[in-house]
Amino acid sequence: CGVFGLYAPEEDVAKLAYFGLYALQHRGQESAGIATFEGDKLHLHKDMGLVAQIFNESTLDHLPGQLAVGHTRYSTTGSSLVSNAQPAVVKTRLGSLALAHNGNLVNTVELREELSQRNCTFETTTDSEAIAIAIGSEVENGKGWLEAAISAFQLCEGAYSLVIGTPEGIMGVRDPHGIRPLTIGLLDGNPQRYVLASETCGLDIIGAEYLRDVEPGELVWITEEGMASFHWAKKPERKLCVFEMIYFARPDSLVHDETLYSYRLRLGQYLAEESPTDADMVIAVPDSGVPAAIGYSQTSHVPYAEGLIKNRYVGRTFIQPTQHMRESGIRMKLNPLKDVLTDKRIIIIDDSIVRGTTSSKIVKALRDAGAKEVHMKISSPPVTHPCFYGLDTDSQDQLIAATKSVDEIAAYIGVDSLAYLSWEGMLKATGADMNSFCSACFTGDYPITIPEKIKRSKLM
Ligand code: 5GP
Ligand code: SF4
Ligand code: MG
Repeated sequence: CGVFGLYAPEEDVAKLAYFGLYALQHRGQESAGIATFEGDKLHLHKDMGLVAQIFNESTLDHLPGQLAVGHTRYSTTGSSLVSNAQPAVVKTRLGSLALAHNGNLVNTVELREELSQRNCTFETTTDSEAIAIAIGSEVENGKGWLEAAISAFQLCEGAYSLVIGTPEGIMGVRDPHGIRPLTIGLLDGNPQRYVLASETCGLDIIGAEYLRDVEPGELVWITEEGMASFHWAKKPERKLCVFEMIYFARPDSLVHDETLYSYRLRLGQYLAEESPTDADMVIAVPDSGVPAAIGYSQTSHVPYAEGLIKNRYVGRTFIQPTQHMRESGIRMKLNPLKDVLTDKRIIIIDDSIVRGTTSSKIVKALRDAGAKEVHMKISSPPVTHPCFYGLDTDSQDQLIAATKSVDEIAAYIGVDSLAYLSWEGMLKATGADMNSFCSACFTGDYPITIPEKIKRSKLM
């Protein structure tokens, strides 16, 4: 999911939130919403679909206020329903709160049980609503916004990057492991005008200047007095999702003060060192494989070319919920360039293989277009374990590398050869401490303990 927030009295906050969400559209295409606070009055508009389908000048005009919270949803828990769209709203004695969540709790069942015992009622089945209700419940017990939020987080286990709007101001929060990203920007260089966005591309689009990330286990509280910071977690431990780096976040977003484009370029360079192959050209699976393919070409000196053209107006296929839709998705999305590919030995680069369905179809399309040899190289290791922290809903039995060896996968997707980047290469290329990432979907080494019942639901 994508989360966004800004505190900017006198600005058209809804319009700025709209553009912020527009830049975060890749993080979720199922539903979107914006909540604004006009004094203590809450305005909300949310619906199914893309940001540009949900909002227009008129709906935005109905969202006045001094601050805004926005969300783009990619469903991980809870079904694809408008009632599950965010921001989630809860009424309290101090006024409403509007919460936008990216990530996935691993103890939703326990949290809901605890809240039910406090006589809280739920409208949805989402973990995000449960967080909002937990904060509301602490407010009802007499706490102020900050104290209430920090108490509620003690009940939450898992991944959560949050933007929370209240009549007084907005909060930006990351869980103690900082699994999902969250960045802070300044609007017009004015230390009274702050922006929060999942990625820096959400700051760039409205001309906000990137200040820094919210830290793991930090809460920033942005009000008319400016920004205050609270380190509330007992043992924060940096575990950013490495899949954000490899694939999910936009290549123009910054992580560790560098664009992910540069990181992905290095992945391709390392891949070329680890896995050289004699070929006529290197092509990418657009768009996710492009930076690594360029990096591969730079290091291997095999020329880079375009071999597949993508229809930019079709959403990311993996966000569509059913296998059937996914399978038809690829035909809508990519078209091979026959005259480029005919009789050529092709190296094709992609960021990851998850189920193997996309890759099989792409390889078949390249062969149909006349490619003589197809060598696939992947700029990350085999995905062998499911994610419980909000990126991928697939259970382990759906992951092709959980049951097949690299040679078996190569045979299944129909390539002449297949190679993956090493786990060390993927982490070394970050230039950061290798321990400061979650890479559990490649190793099964989950940094936040998964309750047995949930584990069993997804692991073989
Ligand atoms: P597959 O061959 O596994 O069907 O699809 C792999 C391709 O889809 C890659 O291009 C990757 O960018 C994208 N992809 C599809 N689904 C997912 C997913 O659930 N998680 C991630 N990280 N990438 C996915
Ligand atoms: Fe990211 Fe994989 Fe960890 Fe999930 S399991 S948070 S996708 S690295
Ligand atoms: Mg892709």
